[in-house]
Amino acid sequence: MTPPKTENSVQIILIKSHLFFFAKTIGIKKISGGIGKIMDSKNENKLRNFTEFLFFDTFNVSSIMLKIRFLNFFMINYFLKLIIISFFLFFSFLKYNIAENNQILLNEVLPGILIYYGENEEPNEINKGAIANKIAIIGNKSILVYDAGPSKEFAERFIKELRKYSKKPIKYLVISHRHFDHAYGIEVYIKKKVTIFIDKTEYSYLKKEGPLINNLLIKNLGFNEDNINFDNISEEKINFLADSIEVNLGNRRVLIKNLGIAHTKGDLIAYDFNTNTYITGDVIFIGRAAAFSDANIPMWINVINNKLDLSWDYLIPGHGSIINNKLELNDTKNWLYFLDNAAKQAVSEGDMISEIFQYPIPKEIHHLKMKSITLRQGIKKQLDLYRKKYIE
Ligand SMILES: [Zn+2]
Repeated sequence: MTPPKTENSVQIILIKSHLFFFAKTIGIKKISGGIGKIMDSKNENKLRNFTEFLFFDTFNVSSIMLKIRFLNFFMINYFLKLIIISFFLFFSFLKYNIAENNQILLNEVLPGILIYYGENEEPNEINKGAIANKIAIIGNKSILVYDAGPSKEFAERFIKELRKYSKKPIKYLVISHRHFDHAYGIEVYIKKKVTIFIDKTEYSYLKKEGPLINNLLIKNLGFNEDNINFDNISEEKINFLADSIEVNLGNRRVLIKNLGIAHTKGDLIAYDFNTNTYITGDVIFIGRAAAFSDANIPMWINVINNKLDLSWDYLIPGHGSIINNKLELNDTKNWLYFLDNAAKQAVSEGDMISEIFQYPIPKEIHHLKMKSITLRQGIKKQLDLYRKKYIE
């Protein structure tokens, strides 16, 4: 019996959205070169997501073609399945190869801006803590690196990979804040006599907490014993940035600015005038719940609303993909609003942490990854802060 000819557009939309989700899950974005500057037929210079382009447009075109050729629903389904399987095999193969070679992939997302995209996941023995984004801005005289990564090994491999793109000297390093996934490769840059910027309070925490956290990284994630020696990190090798400074990489001016208390006690961001791009570190998280253990949540919300004031075209977060739309800042903002409300409610009603986990999650943040684990890691410290603020 031949199957009836059905209108299969709903089916195709479903398959497309599943494919999109699937592609994101296996990390196709990072592997395929991430977001590249792909021409949008409607808007010539619009930045488009590569995955979106690949799947949505290709499938739109191919489903139209298939329809024209009067292929029935089952035939289309069969082809789609074939394509899914070959994509899966291809990308698993790629991913396996990359993991085997321990290679650091850099992504030129904008002219002269390279990103190492960290995965939105917990630090583990496989990713070795390389979970945050690290960026290099290349000028015609020198290079600025934003964040040093989790380890000496990472920093060395990052620089080696960077050398494939430019042999210009690395003149500046911005450490966005003290957290290990951003800061612990710093010693490699100190040895190279790079000019390093960090917030002063963040520096003192780096020195204070560093040795203990580093020992845990060696023990739990298999970092090298000589990962970082905090005795080699001293004030005279670091520049404390309290407000802002503009540096010139040749043809390229970059503003480095301290946004003050937000995700930590002092978050440094960078702004590239050439491409009108903010590099925000952990002030912004895209696609996952923002870590907030060391944050001041109300001040952080204020910073996002008021201090990213230059009219940017692109923004590179500390975790997650580059964005070009202000609405995407809601990934961080809505999560922080949720935390702020939850902490206030818990304090006023005397709820325990286990009860906070029962609070309804607003639908605007349903899609964020790592909500429970992030909540668990940060909520106790925040409750103490909120209690002090709202009770005493
Ligand atoms: Zn952080």
